[in-house]
Amino acid sequence: MKTIVIPGHGTFELENVVLDLNGTVTETGTFIPGVVEGFEALRRAGFRIFVLSGDTKGTLAQTFKGFPYIQAVLAKTGQDKRAFVESIGPEHTVCIGNGNIDVEMFKVARLSLCTIQAEGSTTKAMIEADIVVTHIKHAMEILLDPHKLIATLRS
Ligand SMILES: [Mg+2]
Repeated sequence: MKTIVIPGHGTFELENVVLDLNGTVTETGTFIPGVVEGFEALRRAGFRIFVLSGDTKGTLAQTFKGFPYIQAVLAKTGQDKRAFVESIGPEHTVCIGNGNIDVEMFKVARLSLCTIQAEGSTTKAMIEADIVVTHIKHAMEILLDPHKLIATLRS
């Protein structure tokens, strides 16, 4: 559990990182450069990592076979994603995503980060997120360096 005090924004006690798959950690089925290193760094920092996907191509389990510390979870709808986050403790969860399917989990998570990258982000996802970043690497770096989170969120 990582405790971060943000002046004017309250205290975060973060334990879970929940990531959308397509457009967030992969593009056309391949990990975005920097993502694998980011997973490792988040694990070393003590986060539990979950990747949620509708698995339309049936490749979810295979994609994460080499990552025993990552839990790949089937979630076909925005409500499925939200229900999963609610089941693991939304008050201790960070969500990272880019699409409309991520909006519901963004609403319940303690902290939500929206990535734009090559597939873009929907305006609804951006509005519901606490922070918008251009690249997943930056989202992961923000979680690994509380100073960045404080600098952006403090009021
Ligand atoms: Mg996506």
